[in-house]
Amino acid sequence: MRRPVRRTVTHQEGPTMFGRTPHPSSLAELIPVEPPAVAQAIGLSKIYGSGQATVTALDDVTVDFTRGQLTAIMGPSGSGKSTLMHCMAALDSPTSGRIVIDGVDIAGLNDRALTQLRRDRLGFVFQAYNLIPTLTARENITLPVDIAGRKPDQAWFDTVIDTLSIRDRLSHRPSELSGGQQQRVACARALISRPAIVFADEPTGNLDSRASAEILSFLRRSVDEFGQSIVMVTHDPAAAGYADRVLFLADGRIVGELAHPTAENVLERMKNVELTGGRN
Ligand code: ADP
Repeated sequence: MRRPVRRTVTHQEGPTMFGRTPHPSSLAELIPVEPPAVAQAIGLSKIYGSGQATVTALDDVTVDFTRGQLTAIMGPSGSGKSTLMHCMAALDSPTSGRIVIDGVDIAGLNDRALTQLRRDRLGFVFQAYNLIPTLTARENITLPVDIAGRKPDQAWFDTVIDTLSIRDRLSHRPSELSGGQQQRVACARALISRPAIVFADEPTGNLDSRASAEILSFLRRSVDEFGQSIVMVTHDPAAAGYADRVLFLADGRIVGELAHPTAENVLERMKNVELTGGRN
Protein backbone atom coordinates (compact mmCIF):
# COMPACT_ATOMS: atom_id res chain seq x y z
CA MET A 1 0.00 0.00 0.00
CA ARG A 2 2.03 2.96 -1.24
CA ARG A 3 0.70 6.48 -1.12
CA PRO A 4 -0.08 7.88 -4.56
CA VAL A 5 2.77 9.84 -6.04
CA ARG A 6 1.94 13.48 -5.31
CA ARG A 7 4.24 15.21 -7.71
CA THR A 8 6.05 13.84 -10.67
CA VAL A 9 8.95 15.11 -12.66
CA THR A 10 9.82 13.38 -15.89
CA HIS A 11 13.31 12.74 -17.16
CA GLN A 12 12.28 15.23 -19.78
CA GLU A 13 11.47 17.89 -17.18
CA GLY A 14 14.30 17.06 -14.81
CA PRO A 15 17.16 18.55 -16.84
CA THR A 16 15.01 21.59 -17.59
CA MET A 17 15.05 22.47 -13.90
CA PHE A 18 18.80 22.73 -14.18
CA GLY A 19 18.72 24.88 -17.27
CA ARG A 20 19.26 22.31 -20.01
CA THR A 21 17.00 21.77 -22.98
CA PRO A 22 14.98 18.56 -22.86
CA HIS A 23 15.63 16.10 -25.69
CA PRO A 24 13.80 12.87 -24.90
CA SER A 25 15.38 10.23 -27.06
CA SER A 26 13.52 7.18 -25.80
CA LEU A 27 10.28 6.18 -24.15
CA ALA A 28 12.13 5.53 -20.89
CA GLU A 29 12.95 9.23 -20.63
CA LEU A 30 9.24 10.05 -20.50
CA ILE A 31 8.40 7.66 -17.66
CA PRO A 32 7.53 9.83 -14.64
CA VAL A 33 9.99 9.68 -11.79
CA GLU A 34 10.48 11.80 -8.71
CA PRO A 35 13.88 13.27 -7.90
CA PRO A 36 15.60 10.92 -5.44
CA ALA A 37 16.20 13.68 -2.91
CA VAL A 38 13.06 14.88 -1.15
CA ALA A 39 15.09 17.57 0.61
CA GLN A 40 18.55 19.02 0.12
CA ALA A 41 20.82 21.27 2.11
CA ILE A 42 23.52 22.91 0.02
CA GLY A 43 26.40 24.67 1.77
CA LEU A 44 24.20 25.38 4.78
CA SER A 45 25.64 27.48 7.60
CA LYS A 46 23.98 28.93 10.66
CA ILE A 47 25.78 31.36 12.91
CA TYR A 48 24.13 32.61 16.09
CA GLY A 49 25.12 35.81 17.84
CA SER A 50 27.88 38.23 16.91
CA GLY A 51 31.34 39.26 18.03
CA GLN A 52 32.75 37.13 20.84
CA ALA A 53 29.40 35.43 21.39
CA THR A 54 29.34 33.92 17.89
CA VAL A 55 28.33 30.26 17.72
CA THR A 56 28.62 28.33 14.46
CA ALA A 57 25.75 25.86 14.83
CA LEU A 58 25.99 24.61 11.21
CA ASP A 59 29.20 24.79 9.21
CA ASP A 60 28.80 24.35 5.44
CA VAL A 61 26.49 21.32 5.53
CA THR A 62 25.62 19.73 2.21
CA VAL A 63 23.34 16.70 2.34
CA ASP A 64 20.54 14.98 0.42
CA PHE A 65 17.62 13.32 2.18
CA THR A 66 16.43 10.43 0.07
CA ARG A 67 12.77 10.18 -0.86
CA GLY A 68 10.93 7.26 0.70
CA GLN A 69 13.54 6.71 3.39
CA LEU A 70 13.76 7.15 7.15
CA THR A 71 16.91 9.16 7.85
CA ALA A 72 18.13 9.56 11.43
CA ILE A 73 20.32 12.47 12.51
CA MET A 74 22.55 11.81 15.51
CA GLY A 75 25.35 13.61 17.28
CA PRO A 76 26.42 14.90 20.67
CA SER A 77 24.43 17.61 22.40
CA GLY A 78 25.17 20.97 20.75
CA SER A 79 26.35 19.37 17.48
CA GLY A 80 23.66 21.18 15.45
CA LYS A 81 20.96 18.50 15.04
CA SER A 82 18.03 20.72 16.00
CA THR A 83 19.40 23.66 14.04
CA LEU A 84 19.72 21.49 10.92
CA MET A 85 16.21 20.14 11.33
CA HIS A 86 14.70 23.57 12.03
CA CYS A 87 16.41 25.07 8.97
CA MET A 88 15.34 22.14 6.77
CA ALA A 89 11.76 22.48 8.05
CA ALA A 90 11.74 26.22 7.32
CA LEU A 91 11.24 26.97 11.02
CA ASP A 92 14.56 28.83 11.17
CA SER A 93 16.54 30.57 8.45
CA PRO A 94 20.17 29.73 7.65
CA THR A 95 22.90 32.37 7.62
CA SER A 96 24.00 31.12 4.21
CA GLY A 97 23.40 28.21 1.87
CA ARG A 98 20.32 26.80 0.15
CA ILE A 99 17.50 24.46 1.11
CA VAL A 100 15.43 22.64 -1.47
CA ILE A 101 12.26 20.93 -0.26
CA ASP A 102 10.39 18.67 -2.67
CA GLY A 103 11.95 20.51 -5.61
CA VAL A 104 11.31 24.02 -4.19
CA ASP A 105 14.21 26.30 -3.27
CA ILE A 106 12.76 27.87 -0.14
CA ALA A 107 15.03 30.93 -0.23
CA GLY A 108 12.76 32.40 -2.87
CA LEU A 109 9.57 32.07 -0.83
CA ASN A 110 7.91 34.90 1.07
CA ASP A 111 6.37 34.33 4.52
CA ARG A 112 3.00 33.37 3.13
CA ALA A 113 4.45 30.83 0.70
CA LEU A 114 6.65 29.41 3.48
CA THR A 115 3.62 28.96 5.73
CA GLN A 116 1.83 27.22 2.89
CA LEU A 117 4.83 24.97 2.21
CA ARG A 118 5.03 23.99 5.88
CA ARG A 119 1.29 23.31 5.96
CA ASP A 120 1.00 21.38 2.70
CA ARG A 121 4.32 19.60 2.25
CA LEU A 122 5.75 19.12 5.73
CA GLY A 123 4.63 17.13 8.73
CA PHE A 124 6.02 17.52 12.25
CA VAL A 125 6.34 15.23 15.24
CA PHE A 126 7.78 16.82 18.39
CA GLN A 127 9.17 15.27 21.55
CA ALA A 128 6.45 16.96 23.63
CA TYR A 129 3.64 15.92 21.22
CA ASN A 130 2.40 19.57 20.90
CA LEU A 131 -1.28 18.62 20.73
CA ILE A 132 -3.93 21.25 21.39
CA PRO A 133 -5.36 20.39 24.83
CA THR A 134 -8.89 21.67 24.18
CA LEU A 135 -9.34 19.62 20.99
CA THR A 136 -10.18 15.92 20.77
CA ALA A 137 -7.74 13.50 19.18
CA ARG A 138 -9.78 13.54 15.98
CA GLU A 139 -9.81 17.35 15.87
CA ASN A 140 -6.06 17.46 16.52
CA ILE A 141 -5.42 15.01 13.68
CA THR A 142 -7.50 16.87 11.11
CA LEU A 143 -6.33 20.33 12.22
CA PRO A 144 -3.75 20.84 9.40
CA VAL A 145 -6.35 19.89 6.78
CA ASP A 146 -9.05 22.00 8.48
CA ILE A 147 -6.76 25.04 8.58
CA ALA A 148 -6.08 24.59 4.88
CA GLY A 149 -9.87 24.69 4.34
CA ARG A 150 -9.91 21.19 2.88
CA LYS A 151 -11.88 18.08 3.75
CA PRO A 152 -9.86 15.19 5.17
CA ASP A 153 -9.61 12.21 2.81
CA GLN A 154 -11.72 9.72 4.78
CA ALA A 155 -10.06 6.60 3.37
CA TRP A 156 -6.60 7.96 4.18
CA PHE A 157 -7.75 9.08 7.65
CA ASP A 158 -9.06 5.53 8.31
CA THR A 159 -5.82 3.94 7.07
CA VAL A 160 -3.68 6.15 9.30
CA ILE A 161 -5.70 5.79 12.49
CA ASP A 162 -6.11 2.03 12.02
CA THR A 163 -2.37 1.61 11.40
CA LEU A 164 -1.82 3.53 14.64
CA SER A 165 -4.64 1.68 16.49
CA ILE A 166 -6.21 4.86 17.84
CA ARG A 167 -9.76 4.56 16.51
CA ASP A 168 -11.16 4.05 20.02
CA ARG A 169 -9.36 7.17 21.30
CA LEU A 170 -10.59 9.71 18.75
CA SER A 171 -13.08 11.45 21.05
CA HIS A 172 -10.56 11.78 23.92
CA ARG A 173 -8.68 14.95 24.72
CA PRO A 174 -4.88 14.79 25.09
CA SER A 175 -5.09 14.84 28.93
CA GLU A 176 -7.10 11.61 28.74
CA LEU A 177 -4.41 9.84 26.71
CA SER A 178 -1.10 8.22 27.67
CA GLY A 179 2.14 9.69 26.32
CA GLY A 180 2.37 6.93 23.73
CA GLN A 181 -1.22 7.52 22.62
CA GLN A 182 -0.63 11.28 22.39
CA GLN A 183 2.41 10.69 20.21
CA ARG A 184 0.40 8.33 17.99
CA VAL A 185 -2.17 11.11 17.55
CA ALA A 186 0.69 13.51 16.71
CA CYS A 187 1.97 11.01 14.11
CA ALA A 188 -1.51 10.82 12.56
CA ARG A 189 -1.63 14.65 12.45
CA ALA A 190 1.77 14.69 10.72
CA LEU A 191 0.67 12.25 8.03
CA ILE A 192 -2.91 13.36 7.39
CA SER A 193 -2.04 15.88 4.68
CA ARG A 194 0.27 13.35 2.95
CA PRO A 195 3.31 15.59 3.33
CA ALA A 196 6.36 15.20 1.13
CA ILE A 197 8.47 14.86 4.26
CA VAL A 198 7.93 14.41 8.00
CA PHE A 199 10.40 15.94 10.45
CA ALA A 200 10.44 14.14 13.79
CA ASP A 201 12.41 15.83 16.60
CA GLU A 202 13.26 13.25 19.30
CA PRO A 203 9.83 11.61 18.79
CA THR A 204 10.46 8.99 21.47
CA GLY A 205 12.31 11.25 23.92
CA ASN A 206 9.43 11.27 26.43
CA LEU A 207 8.30 7.66 26.00
CA ASP A 208 9.05 4.36 27.72
CA SER A 209 10.62 1.60 25.67
CA ARG A 210 7.35 -0.07 24.74
CA ALA A 211 5.65 3.12 23.56
CA SER A 212 8.88 4.11 21.77
CA ALA A 213 8.92 0.82 19.87
CA GLU A 214 5.29 1.39 18.79
CA ILE A 215 6.05 4.87 17.46
CA LEU A 216 9.25 3.76 15.70
CA SER A 217 7.49 0.75 14.16
CA PHE A 218 4.83 3.11 12.87
CA LEU A 219 7.40 5.48 11.36
CA ARG A 220 9.09 2.47 9.74
CA ARG A 221 5.76 1.17 8.37
CA SER A 222 4.81 4.56 7.01
CA VAL A 223 8.04 4.55 4.99
CA ASP A 224 7.71 0.94 3.83
CA GLU A 225 3.96 0.90 3.17
CA PHE A 226 3.05 4.51 2.36
CA GLY A 227 6.34 5.64 0.79
CA GLN A 228 6.63 8.42 3.38
CA SER A 229 9.94 10.30 3.66
CA ILE A 230 11.00 10.96 7.26
CA VAL A 231 13.91 12.77 8.90
CA MET A 232 14.25 12.04 12.61
CA VAL A 233 16.58 13.58 15.17
CA THR A 234 17.38 11.16 17.95
CA HIS A 235 20.06 10.50 20.53
CA ASP A 236 18.92 6.89 20.97
CA PRO A 237 20.88 4.23 19.01
CA ALA A 238 17.91 1.85 19.27
CA ALA A 239 15.70 4.45 17.56
CA ALA A 240 18.34 5.10 14.89
CA GLY A 241 18.39 1.34 14.27
CA TYR A 242 14.94 1.69 12.66
CA ALA A 243 16.32 4.08 10.03
CA ASP A 244 17.58 3.39 6.51
CA ARG A 245 20.48 5.73 7.03
CA VAL A 246 22.05 7.59 9.94
CA LEU A 247 23.89 10.90 9.58
CA PHE A 248 26.34 11.85 12.32
CA LEU A 249 26.89 15.49 13.19
CA ALA A 250 29.73 16.98 15.24
CA ASP A 251 30.50 20.68 15.67
CA GLY A 252 27.96 21.65 13.02
CA ARG A 253 29.38 19.36 10.34
CA ILE A 254 28.35 15.99 8.96
CA VAL A 255 31.18 13.72 10.02
CA GLY A 256 29.87 10.35 8.90
CA GLU A 257 26.95 8.26 7.87
CA LEU A 258 25.82 4.69 8.17
CA ALA A 259 23.54 2.77 5.83
CA HIS A 260 21.43 -0.13 7.17
CA PRO A 261 22.13 0.82 10.78
CA THR A 262 21.63 -1.40 13.79
CA ALA A 263 21.49 -0.24 17.41
CA GLU A 264 24.91 -1.87 17.93
CA ASN A 265 26.82 -0.33 15.04
CA VAL A 266 25.20 3.09 15.71
CA LEU A 267 26.39 2.91 19.31
CA GLU A 268 29.93 2.07 18.17
CA ARG A 269 29.96 4.99 15.74
CA MET A 270 28.50 7.36 18.35
CA LYS A 271 31.33 6.55 20.74
CA ASN A 272 33.78 7.46 18.00
CA VAL A 273 32.02 10.74 17.23
CA GLU A 274 31.86 11.66 20.95
CA LEU A 275 35.53 10.86 21.48
CA THR A 276 37.04 12.30 18.34
CA GLY A 277 34.46 14.76 17.00
CA GLY A 278 34.22 12.41 13.99
CA ARG A 279 37.84 12.92 12.91
CA ASN A 280 38.57 9.15 12.85
P1 ADP B 1 21.76 19.84 19.18
O1 ADP B 1 20.36 19.80 18.68
O2 ADP B 1 22.68 18.90 18.47
O3 ADP B 1 21.86 19.68 20.67
P2 ADP B 1 21.61 22.65 18.52
O4 ADP B 1 21.31 22.69 17.08
O5 ADP B 1 20.49 22.88 19.48
O6 ADP B 1 22.37 21.29 18.85
O7 ADP B 1 22.74 23.74 18.85
C1 ADP B 1 23.94 23.84 18.10
C2 ADP B 1 24.77 24.99 18.69
O8 ADP B 1 24.10 26.22 18.46
C3 ADP B 1 24.95 24.89 20.21
O9 ADP B 1 26.23 25.35 20.52
C4 ADP B 1 23.89 25.80 20.75
O10 ADP B 1 24.25 26.31 22.01
C5 ADP B 1 23.81 26.87 19.69
N1 ADP B 1 22.48 27.48 19.59
C6 ADP B 1 21.34 26.86 19.25
N2 ADP B 1 20.32 27.72 19.23
C7 ADP B 1 20.83 28.94 19.56
C8 ADP B 1 20.28 30.27 19.71
N3 ADP B 1 19.00 30.51 19.49
N4 ADP B 1 21.11 31.25 20.06
C9 ADP B 1 22.43 31.03 20.27
N5 ADP B 1 23.02 29.82 20.14
C10 ADP B 1 22.22 28.78 19.79
